[in-house]
Parts: sequence; structure tokens; C-alpha cells
Amino acid sequence: DTQTQQWQAMSRDHHLPPFSDYKTLNARGARIITRADGVYLWDSEGNKILDAMAGLWCVNVGYGREELVEAASRQMRELPYYNLFFQTAHPPALALAKAIAEITPAGMNHVFFTGSGSEANDTVLRMVRHYWAIKGQPEKKVVIGRWNGYHGSTVAGVSLGGMKAMHGQGDLPIPGIEHIDQPYWFGEGGDLDPDAFGVQVAEQLERKILEVGEDKIAAFIAEPIQGAGGVIIPPDSYWPKVREILDRYDILLIADEVICGFGRTGEWFGSDYFGNAPDLMPIAKGLTSGYIPMGGVVVRDEVVQTLNEGGEFYHGFTYSGHPVAAAVALENIRILREERIVERVKAHTAPYLQKRWAELAEHPLVGEARGVGMLGALELVKDKKTRERFTDQGVGMRCRDHCFDNGLVMRAVGDTMIISPPLVISTDEIDELLAKVRRCLDLTAKDMRA
Ligand code: PLP
Repeated sequence: DTQTQQWQAMSRDHHLPPFSDYKTLNARGARIITRADGVYLWDSEGNKILDAMAGLWCVNVGYGREELVEAASRQMRELPYYNLFFQTAHPPALALAKAIAEITPAGMNHVFFTGSGSEANDTVLRMVRHYWAIKGQPEKKVVIGRWNGYHGSTVAGVSLGGMKAMHGQGDLPIPGIEHIDQPYWFGEGGDLDPDAFGVQVAEQLERKILEVGEDKIAAFIAEPIQGAGGVIIPPDSYWPKVREILDRYDILLIADEVICGFGRTGEWFGSDYFGNAPDLMPIAKGLTSGYIPMGGVVVRDEVVQTLNEGGEFYHGFTYSGHPVAAAVALENIRILREERIVERVKAHTAPYLQKRWAELAEHPLVGEARGVGMLGALELVKDKKTRERFTDQGVGMRCRDHCFDNGLVMRAVGDTMIISPPLVISTDEIDELLAKVRRCLDLTAKDMRA
């Protein structure tokens, strides 16, 4: 057997990878990724692949950054681990908390560290309920999320999220979680213009609040731009209307910044992009550029003041504020700041990417090409005018396979193709990305005609 076949056998015999249909995977064999540099991956067969997903929306500074390796090894030598449970602290966690406060929206100056985005959302659920209990309103405990939202794979993450296929496994959501529709204009907007649709879906929030009881709602949780759901960019009218409703009923806003955070939109956080002032922000992914697991919840000062009055918050993780992860995150933020990567995305590479991306709307297979910052989505359709979809549900997967076979990682969410490249991608690499996308769209169109 070749080395690749040996690895595939190990996968089949011993490994249960996430989000996988094991039968299908084992039949075709896992693709083995062995190394990476810049915006490129290499597989075990030596193929060079442009990673237009930055891993899983996370490798913001690109692969192969020696400074991050150095930061990790330095910290491992100095203090590889210590917990934060015994009224203890260590310099990396403290320096990181301060650095995060410097880049987050005004009035958000504290962070609770977790090991992942899912743990951040478990934390945020407990935290908002705890907050209202301290304020003497323990009945304010329902959290409203959105259909097709994604907040992770733990029990709380799946429950807050709105992925019906996930709810169907494990008897979820847990009680006390409600969902409203997403602001998905292309798919669900019908004949409405985008802003009218944005207001209409935002108003569902108010109807849900009144249905459940206006004194029972703790918080609304949403991604500024829904990522895993298909890069759902809300119409301009959406967020201002949501904010107005939340203020009217004294409900906290949780902006899940796990994808949008750390520069993805060309601003530091998606909330900055939309001019939102959330009360709590789960973060992860771009916090360390994915080099090491870490997440957290950034908390508004007013919420912290209340938590301070609540006695001990019985919550935390062995790896909360892990010193090595914190050292890597700190160095990652230093790179983002000193190389002015977020500013460069906003002023230079995002406008370039978005201009070229929009041109894809001319392709016969593309019903809509949308994007913000370093995020993009293409809606694959059978009929551009009527937005009729292919009955063959596999069109996205087909396109994704063509991409992989032609040296490009582009993700398929149903019939929506998605990119989220490293923020450091150059304009030449964007040209290469676009050329590959076009070729794969052509190959997919040919399949669909056959
Ligand atoms: N929240 C959002 C918006 C995400 O996209 C993700 C992961 O994709 C998560 C939470 C969960 O993060 P993790 O996979 O680190 O648990």
C-alpha cells in the first residue's frame, strides 16, 4: 500500500472525524493534508491546494507563521500550564485579556476564556441566565436564536444554533431556547426588496418575544453574518431594527463573533462592521488564527458589574486561559495589528476580492454572488431568473469535489458555495482563486447539463 492508503486505512480503522458520514468517507478514502504555507495546503499525494476557507474560517494570518511557533515554544518552556481556578493568574492570560479589550468595541473590557467557540456559547448561555438571576429576574431565561444559525456542537451550541439536522440528533434543543428566521434574502425574500425583507424578519423577533412573554427573554444570539449557514449577509435594515426591538424589551444581544471576529469583515469585529454594540461576544477561531485551540466570551462592562455582585460563578474549564494558547493568541493579535492586516483587508484586498467575486454573477450557474470583507458566497441555480434550484441536491458537493480536484478548497453548504480565505491573501492569489472558481463552475455546469 502507498503511504496515503495506509493513512486512509488508519482513518477507517480507528478514527471518527467530525461531521462525517463514515460509510461514504471510508468508501472514498480521506484526503490526507500533510502541510501548509501561506494560503496553500499540500496533500499526501503532493497536490498544492489554495485554501479559500482558511481552514475552517480561522487561519487569518495564513499558515507558516514562525512567530506563532516561537511564541508557543517559549511559553511551553516558561510555564506550559497552570490553572486559573485557585484565585491565580498568569502573565499570558492577563496580557491577552488586555489586548482583546483594546480591539473590541467600546465598553467591552473583560473576557472569560474557554477552549473553543462551542464552549464560549455554553458559557454565554449560563452567563446571561446567571446575570438576570443576579438582577432578581430569574424568569428571564429564554434565549432566542435563528434558524440555520451555527453556534457549535455542544449541547448548548446545537440548541442555540438552528441547524434542524443537528437538532434531530441527540434530542435537542434543550428547553428554553427559541428560534426565528434568518435574514436570507436570496433564499427566502420572495418578491420583497432586501430592506423590506430585513425589517420583516427582524420583526419576527418582536412577535417571538410577545409570544413567549416579554419578561421571559434573557438574550438574542446571532452571528453578525451567518457563516456556516451559508454566508447570510443581512440587509442594511436588519440590525438597526433588531437593536431597536432588543432595547424596547431590555434583552441582551449576544453577537457570536467566532467567524466574523479578528478582521474577517475588514473591521476587527462583525459588530463594528454593522455598528452594533453587543452585550456579549463569543470569540474563537481567528483569536489564534487556528494555530492552537482557544475561545472566549467578551463581556460588556455593565454586565461585568452585575456579575461582580453575584458571588462565585461556578463555571470554567481546565484550559480556560491556557498559557500556551494565550501566548499564541497574543502574538497573533500583535501580527494582525503591526502588519495592519485588518486595515489592508478593508482598504485593499476586500474591495479587490469583492469586485472580482461579483463578476461571477454572470456565470450561467450563479444566481447570486455576494460577499463582505474576506467572505463570499455563490448561489448555484438551475434558472437565474426564477432562482429555481437543481433538483439534484448534489450540485454543491459536485462543485466542491471539482474544486478539490483542481487545487482549491471551497466549501459547499447545500447549493451555496462559500469562501473565507486567509486575510493575508494577495491580489495575485485572489486572481488564482477566481480563475479556479470559474473553471470549477464550468465543470459543474457541464455535469448538470449531462
Ligand atoms: N460559533 C460560530 C459562529 C461558529 O462558526 C463556530 C464554528 O464553526 C462555533 C461557534 C463553534 O466553534 P468551535 O468549533 O470552536 O467549538
